Amino acid sequence: MARRLDFEDHRRDLAANRYVYAVVSRRARGLSIGVNLNPDKLCNFDCPYCQVDRTTPGASPRIDVGVLAGELGELLERVRGDLWAEPPFDSVEPGLRRVADIAFAGDGEPTTPPEFPAAAAAARGARDRLAPGVPLRLLTNATLFHKPKVHAGLAAFDELWCKLDAGSERYFQLVDGTRLPFRRILDNLRLVARERPIVIQAMLLAIDGRGPDAAEIAAWVARLREILEGGGRIDHVQVYTVARKPADPRFGPLDRARLDEIAAAARAAGLQATVYA
Ligand code: SF4
Repeated sequence: MARRLDFEDHRRDLAANRYVYAVVSRRARGLSIGVNLNPDKLCNFDCPYCQVDRTTPGASPRIDVGVLAGELGELLERVRGDLWAEPPFDSVEPGLRRVADIAFAGDGEPTTPPEFPAAAAAARGARDRLAPGVPLRLLTNATLFHKPKVHAGLAAFDELWCKLDAGSERYFQLVDGTRLPFRRILDNLRLVARERPIVIQAMLLAIDGRGPDAAEIAAWVARLREILEGGGRIDHVQVYTVARKPADPRFGPLDRARLDEIAAAARAAGLQATVYA
């Protein structure tokens, strides 16, 4: 059966491409062109809700920036040509036949490979040449913003979508599966938010049927306030929950009413917040 591109299909493969894939994004209301800088499937977080299939081995961690630029350029050229008449893109409903973004969002943290700055510059070049007006986004956990090379690479992006799922160190370690210092991430967020507005993405979930408690949400809002009070700018906050069932049955989606309450808490701190459920 021909593969159909729809909201359910988030596989990160496109023909024989190594790095560039395409998904139809409900949130973006169109085709999101993805760039996967983690073909080895390694991440410096180990979120229990992660949807990356790590039961099968990944590929070489080395990024061939020339190949990546070629794949992106070729797909953008096809968008300008006959892409929507070709399978699987011919199955996308007409209202969604637009490129919504180009997003660095792969099978791990995109800023970890040493080739990140060169890959970012190459993607920026392809976007400027072939798809001006399409936003270039980085989806990141902000763990490496303090590294000069990573920091320099951020300049290529129009938007930085930064993960902040917790307000306390204990909860951060639980939901992001890491022992990296929470303080460093908070400092990194403030550092970059002082230079340019950032977007905060909060993935909130239920553990054994219970979501984050009131103290945890108050701490999360306090972390957002710290960024603002430290001179940082937050463009908006995205509150969302797991769309597909995580492998670990203890983790599950948070109900809509609770997500709305959490977004309201962010709004009370003066932020624009949207729920995606
Ligand atoms: S940061 Fe993203 S890729 Fe890494 S483990 Fe968490 S959800 Fe998976």
